Formats: sequence, structure tokens, C-alpha cells
Amino acid sequence: MKTKINLLYGGKSAEHEVSMRTALAVIQALDFQKYEVNPIYITKAGQWVQREALESPVKHLSELQIGANTSDDTALQVSANEIFVKTKESEEKAVIFPLLHGPNGEDGTVQGLLEVLNLPYVGNGVLASAAGMDKVVMKQLFAQAGLNQVAYVSFIRNDWEENHEQAYRKVEEEIGYPCFVKPANLGSSVGISKCNNREQLNQAFVEAFQFDRKIIVEQGVVAREIEIGVLGNDRPECSVVGEIVPKTDFYDYKAKYEDGDTALIIPADIPEETYETVKNMATKAFKVLDCSGLVRADFFLTSTGEVLINEVNTMPGFTPVSMFPLLWKHTGIDYPALIDRLVQLALERYNEKQ
Ligand code: ATP
Ligand code: MG
Ligand code: MG
Ligand code: MG
Repeated sequence: MKTKINLLYGGKSAEHEVSMRTALAVIQALDFQKYEVNPIYITKAGQWVQREALESPVKHLSELQIGANTSDDTALQVSANEIFVKTKESEEKAVIFPLLHGPNGEDGTVQGLLEVLNLPYVGNGVLASAAGMDKVVMKQLFAQAGLNQVAYVSFIRNDWEENHEQAYRKVEEEIGYPCFVKPANLGSSVGISKCNNREQLNQAFVEAFQFDRKIIVEQGVVAREIEIGVLGNDRPECSVVGEIVPKTDFYDYKAKYEDGDTALIIPADIPEETYETVKNMATKAFKVLDCSGLVRADFFLTSTGEVLINEVNTMPGFTPVSMFPLLWKHTGIDYPALIDRLVQLALERYNEKQ
């Protein structure tokens, strides 16, 4: 019997487009002999659109992008609730695969809905998704676990609006330049700026506050960027380490998705001892956030050999040319096998809870 997979993609997030590409890639890699694939598109406005079950892989994004504005699409729009009540009542359990990045998908909100409906789903649960999406909360938990990381401060929009000068002085006194200003809850480098002076700092605050009511400002480090994949539930395993070599000043949105000339070096040329440190830190981060399924942990490696954790991503970029799947390919698990493994981990976690 085929396993039903309900693919959730798109989403009400600044990372909508990234999710679209991921969904297309996953659909193309799924074995239709093994899986029945039901696409559920979430428009940018947050409307849920149930598509017909796919008979074979689709080839183009446009085939998935049905939804937004035409009258036909309105007929297709249903509430999330309707979709899931239907899913719940069907005889065989469908596994939900939330291929969503950013807020309203990677942040525990959709995961909470799936928990309440008692449905099995791929990837991290509510707590890990929420804590992993908020860079401030994540860093506080990392600090408590003794994980080495850069200095940071954070601000709420209202406080900044009341007193810009005070906010900037705090950054200059506690962090200094260069610094990185980021929306607390986002990914794909959206809304992130590097600042070298007060004027750039001001622009960066304005930019980051467009995406979130909370931002984080981090000390800028000069370092190599390395990443590792973690896979599993209670006994997570680590992949080899990869290195990112952006051609730009930092690994911004354009470098990630538009230019395509960022080099990914897998495995990274690092000493065995550094690999062990990264593995231990990534496993610790996975456990401290109570992760399950998958995580990509991002690190900085300084010229003196110091390893700092930057963040974890609870739904990392997931096309066949994204870092996470490539790391696993080099570790011996190819893209279709990785998808199988994630579905299996979802069912394992679900069955343990019943
Ligand atoms: P994603 O989820 O796609 O990995 P993100 O939006 O969560 O990205 P970060 O990974 O935190 O953002 O940062 C994006 C990039 O900005 C990093 O890969 C790195 O190139 C640069 N960067 C971020 N923080 C720092 C820092 N403190 N010092 C130096 N460079 C940094
Ligand atoms: Mg991230
Ligand atoms: Mg991310
Ligand atoms: Mg990152």
C-alpha cells in the first residue's frame, strides 16, 4: 500500500518562494510507486488550497502555484480545518510534510495545528520549531547549554521607536562594528544587514523592523562558515561538515538563491578535532531545543580555530542542491533516501506518542 504524503508548501512568509522551489524538488524526487502525493498550497495571503492528488511528478513551479487570485482558485480555497478533518477521517494516515520556511510554518504554528489534529508530520515539533525560529530565544538556550557564540543584543520595535539614540548607543557600547542586524524570526538572510557605522545601523534597523517586531544585533566575526546536518529523533546522527564560500560580503539572499556562484565545499577541509567539536555542539544544540527529524546547524570557524554556533534551522533549504541534502549525500544518504528517512522518523515519533 502506498504511503500518503500531504505536502504543505508556499506559506505566509517572506520565504514563500524558497518553499515553492523546495516543494517542486521534493515532488520530482518522490517515488510515486511508493507514495501518494497530495499537494496543499498555502498562498502568500495565507489561504490554503487543496490540490488534486498528483499522478506523476510535476515539472514546473507554475503547476504548483495555482492559488492566489483568479475566481477558479476561490472555489478551491478551503479552510485548513476542512483539509485536515478530511485527512484525519481518511482510513490510512497521511504523513504531513510541511515544506515551509520562516514564520507561519517553520515556527511551530503549523506544527501546533498538526499536534492538535493528532496527525503525523515530518520534522521538528512545536517547541523546537518555535525556539529555533526566534534567534534571541535560541541564543539564550544555547548560552544556558554553554555553547560558544557571538555577543548579541536585541530590541523590540516599540522601544526603538521611542528612543533611537539609546538603542544605537547600546549597540555601539556592547557590540561595536561591524555588526549584523537581523529580524529575530526569519531565514534565508531576508532583512539582514551588515553595518560598519551609525548610518548603516539606522538603515539596518528600519529594514529589519519591516519583517519583525523584534530584532537581534550580533557582533560581526571574520570567520569561515561551516554547516552540519543532524538527522534523527532521540538518537540524532551528524553528517559530514560543509563549508560555504560566498563571493559577496556575506551569505545574503541574493547569494543564496539568485547568483548561484557561492561555493559549497563538501566535506570542508577542517581538522578532525574541529569536526568533533562541531558534531558535539550540533548534537547539544539539537537536544537543548528538543529537536526531532532534522536540523542544519550553522557555525563560524575563526582563524584561531575557535568554533561558534550561529544558529540551527529546523526546516533547512531542501532542494537537491541545498546544503542539507548535499551533506547527507556525502554521508551516504541520497535525496530520495533522505526523504524516506524523514517520513520514517515522522511515523516513529507519532507512533511513540500514541
Ligand atoms: P538561513 O536560515 O538561510 O541560514 P538566516 O536568515 O537565519 O539564514 P543567518 O544564518 O543568521 O541568517 O545569517 C546569514 C548570513 O549572514 C550568514 O550565513 C553569514 O554569511 C552572515 N552572518 C550572520 N551573522 C553573522 C555574524 N555574527 N558575523 C559574521 N557574519 C554573519
Ligand atoms: Mg536561519
Ligand atoms: Mg532558515
Ligand atoms: Mg544560517
